[in-house]
Amino acid sequence: MNRKKVLLLMMLLGMVLGFGPAVSAKSGRFLVGSVKGIRLDNSEWGQVKVAWDAVAAADGYWIRYDQDASMKNSWNIFVNSGTEYVIRKLDVRKEVYVSVRACRREKGWIVPGLPSEVHQCVVKGRLVVIDPGHQSHANLEMEPNGPDSKIMKYKVSGGTRGKVTKVPEYVLALDVSLKLREELEKRGYQVKMTRETHDVDISNAERAVMANEWGADVFLRIHANGSKKSSQNGCSTLCCTAQNPYPVQKWYRRSRKLSEFLVEHLAEKTKAKNLGVSETDKMTGINWSEVPVSIVEMGYMTNPREDKLMQTEAYQKKIVIGLADGVDAYFRRNTTDPEKE
Ligand SMILES: [Zn+2]
Repeated sequence: MNRKKVLLLMMLLGMVLGFGPAVSAKSGRFLVGSVKGIRLDNSEWGQVKVAWDAVAAADGYWIRYDQDASMKNSWNIFVNSGTEYVIRKLDVRKEVYVSVRACRREKGWIVPGLPSEVHQCVVKGRLVVIDPGHQSHANLEMEPNGPDSKIMKYKVSGGTRGKVTKVPEYVLALDVSLKLREELEKRGYQVKMTRETHDVDISNAERAVMANEWGADVFLRIHANGSKKSSQNGCSTLCCTAQNPYPVQKWYRRSRKLSEFLVEHLAEKTKAKNLGVSETDKMTGINWSEVPVSIVEMGYMTNPREDKLMQTEAYQKKIVIGLADGVDAYFRRNTTDPEKE
């Protein structure tokens, strides 16, 4: 029996016996009424409603509830998306205690709206590492294009710049990245940045290693595109190929999905042309990554229209919402992804 089957069996057993799965997970307790996303109503027969819209990635967690804070007589249910669960014989006019715990992954699930205290003990957000592309000064020293690679590439190239606005790519990349961090944190994610200022000297390989060492759930590299043809426009994302020769290859499927979700939601929100996902094994920052990774090309700075748009607050907001929606969609899908990490 493989590990997946054992886990599944343990979960089923847990449901029958009323125990949680033997996977280590933290749990906490809170009053139902204080939690958005999980609500009790009716008087005789309580219902736990998992408000799917309010729950970013809650597919598949355990809920345990009791009228008594000791939880001695608690009853466990395994919650799935879009389903209402009837709680038997609970007087919801009195206090009802519910504990939620993550299974399958120790990191838990994102449930925005939980009180911060509960959030910390129950639902530790997924870690998104954002790498704002480039920096104020290019570093044209060379580094291997991937672990043990003989191919050498610049540590950090200069990036492109706005055709009309003259704004450099590294400025736009950081502007959007900081706003994206704010939005993702609002949605319950943990976020770390490879840089928060322009005056740094961090190579593309080093940026990926930062994401690896921090244990990122996803690594987002934020860039804008440039072309000799000023008419060229639209947004795209990049990931490795299925044949990538480096360790990131095992993240191909997830990186591909992540990239698809990002570009799809980005194009939807910004109305920019969707240029889709490009697969490449030439990017140092992808090749050194050991987590799911995507490069986002927000638009073409060499296109006068997109250049000017990308410097507006309104358009940057659309980019940020699009990317955050893409991240949400990725994690929502992943919670039901049968494929092992
Ligand atoms: Zn770039």
